[in-house]
Amino acid sequence: MAKRKASSPEDEFIARDEAKRRELEQLKRQQAEAEAARQERIGTCPGGCESKLVHEDFRDLTIDRCHSCGGVWLDPGELEKIATDDASLVRDFFDFFRGTSE
Ligand SMILES: [Zn+2]
Repeated sequence: MAKRKASSPEDEFIARDEAKRRELEQLKRQQAEAEAARQERIGTCPGGCESKLVHEDFRDLTIDRCHSCGGVWLDPGELEKIATDDASLVRDFFDFFRGTSE
């Protein structure tokens, strides 16, 4: 086996550059895997059961429901819309969870 020559500044630069390139490739691979996993989770229950959510109409909203765990998921602004439409119902709902309902 040939003995390696002591590394020159150029060799060290090339080695560091190669290490950075490999690190960047690994980072890109990890990002691609994370994005693929995120895409796979779209439309699945965020409650952890990973079942597909079913879109159901509630008044003029489309609400995502999980038939596995019973979770109901609202998009941004939908709770405010419900609260505006029927403030007393939502107040009763929150009072129930706060334990202040009679
Ligand atoms: Zn669920």
